[in-house]
Amino acid sequence: MPAKKISKSAGAKDSKRTPSPKNTTKYKTSWDFSDMYSGPSDPKLEKDTLAIKADCLAFAKKYSSNDDYLSDEKKLLTTLNDYDKLIEKIGSSLPVWYLMNMQNIDGENNVITANVNRLSPILTESINEILFFTLKLAKIPKSNQTSVLKNISLKKYHYLLKKTFDNAKHDLSEEVEKVLNLKSQPSNTMWVDGFEKTMSKQVVVFKGKKLPISEAMSKISSLPTKDRHELHESCMLVLKSLSDFAESEINAVYTDKKIEDQLRGFSKPYEASILSYENDIKNIELLVKTVTDNFSIAHRFYKLKAKALGLKELTYADRAVGIGKNVKKVSFDKTVEIIRSAFGKAGGHYADILDTMLKNGRIDVYPKKGKRAGAYCWGGQNAPTIIMLNHIDSITCVMTLAHEMGHAIHTELAREQPAIYENYTMSVAEVASTFFENLAFEEMFEKLNDKEKVVALHNQIADNISTIFRQVACFNFELELHTKIREKGFLSASEISALHNKHMSAYLGPVAKLTENDGYFFEAWGHIRRYFYVYSYAYGALVSRSLYEKCKADKSFYAKVDSFMKAGKSMSPEDIFKSIGVDVTNPSFYLDGLKSIEKDIERLEKLLKKSSK
Ligand SMILES: [Zn+2]
Repeated sequence: MPAKKISKSAGAKDSKRTPSPKNTTKYKTSWDFSDMYSGPSDPKLEKDTLAIKADCLAFAKKYSSNDDYLSDEKKLLTTLNDYDKLIEKIGSSLPVWYLMNMQNIDGENNVITANVNRLSPILTESINEILFFTLKLAKIPKSNQTSVLKNISLKKYHYLLKKTFDNAKHDLSEEVEKVLNLKSQPSNTMWVDGFEKTMSKQVVVFKGKKLPISEAMSKISSLPTKDRHELHESCMLVLKSLSDFAESEINAVYTDKKIEDQLRGFSKPYEASILSYENDIKNIELLVKTVTDNFSIAHRFYKLKAKALGLKELTYADRAVGIGKNVKKVSFDKTVEIIRSAFGKAGGHYADILDTMLKNGRIDVYPKKGKRAGAYCWGGQNAPTIIMLNHIDSITCVMTLAHEMGHAIHTELAREQPAIYENYTMSVAEVASTFFENLAFEEMFEKLNDKEKVVALHNQIADNISTIFRQVACFNFELELHTKIREKGFLSASEISALHNKHMSAYLGPVAKLTENDGYFFEAWGHIRRYFYVYSYAYGALVSRSLYEKCKADKSFYAKVDSFMKAGKSMSPEDIFKSIGVDVTNPSFYLDGLKSIEKDIERLEKLLKKSSK
């Protein structure tokens, strides 16, 4: 089974190749995996890979052409126990886990690359050998499914089985599945790749210099007002020049999705995505509606931002700009101190997990040549939980460590589950990471002076507004785009761009004035090709916010946060939260989270008034 690997998307911005700070830390700051392998050419890597292969083949041999367990519940139990044991044994495929992580910090090492290329196909093939199993489980006749789900001796496997049965409702015949699979390349992937390739080759001329478009777009919010507006406009004009291709691409892949949804019996465009993240459709509809109904909170923030920037109105280019620079340097030792103290207040064992990881060389801290950008956490069955950072002594880096530690703590606590339930779905992953971000922010914030507080709080709110309101605005945009293309058969690029502006203006509010060209931003928005994935960001941020508020009000609630993390993926996210007394289906649940963000905006308003005096 694949191990959990979670990247902080925003982490990329932390890892510009700035010179590494002088390493004077008292901690082990490089990964030390010598307890597993002596190095990338250790013969044990191949030996372990072949052992995994043998285990998978043995399981496949025993069960792939035998159907007895589909109609005999006693035999089903034995088979599922065998399956659980297999997953526990092959774990997160340690040899490849090791090599891929090593490759991430040493991309120029040919021995690692050669071994990845040699061993990972063996592993992929081995995992493919056992994929038949869940497909077969789905074939348990409908008439027997209720009895299987009531059988107490199968209790441990009920959630796995229920999920498999539910998903199977949308499966098609083997032949149709095969055709869809073969056609997904030309009907989706090739279109998306083609547009991406074309876009990545564009350059934007700025102050006489040619910048690749991705670099130009990421530069916009760091520039002074006049330059910012100029560069933004140049970027939008480049995107507009690609609109014929983008128009065909979006219409093609959205029509393809419409056909597939119809075949599979999904009535709403977002159903398939929500089901795949194991969420409840009604609950996510409630989330989207509550956030949309409260766009006024985002409006209030942008009005305040315009005022702080001394602008009468905001352009689309201004939405992500900061209101001052936070130049405070935070060394890695200091970062650890802040996090340890913040986590310690929540529970000693959180700080212990951090200390153990530091002691065992499970955190790779500094940027170096050949190391990839960003930050991530990766751990799972049989593989230790590790974190990769690109620490450059900034305040953002403190938040990045808190975020990744959230994933790490979640991964560690979920180890209590049997192997089949050890991981967690994407939508709850970001609950844990942002929960621990909240703890670290509060700890750090109290120690800042008033000026620093304004900048830090503004950035924190801006982050939340973009994670919650902007992502839900994107969800609404996607939904209307799918609906219109389904109704009319085709939308022109200028119609798509107008839709983009409609939904972005809706959350930015009256202070933002969008131009016609801004609408072409849709072309660069990769997420609209991942169909409603964006809701998981808003979900994670709002649920974690609520858990955090509950902990602030009553310290004993931290134990419940523990239970949530210990649940792994043994239940649906809604049931996990229900089990700790948090009803995310309550109509006021998401509203409470939004209100707490509004409180932060009030706090910022007061700080701004104080600092302008
Ligand atoms: Zn994350």
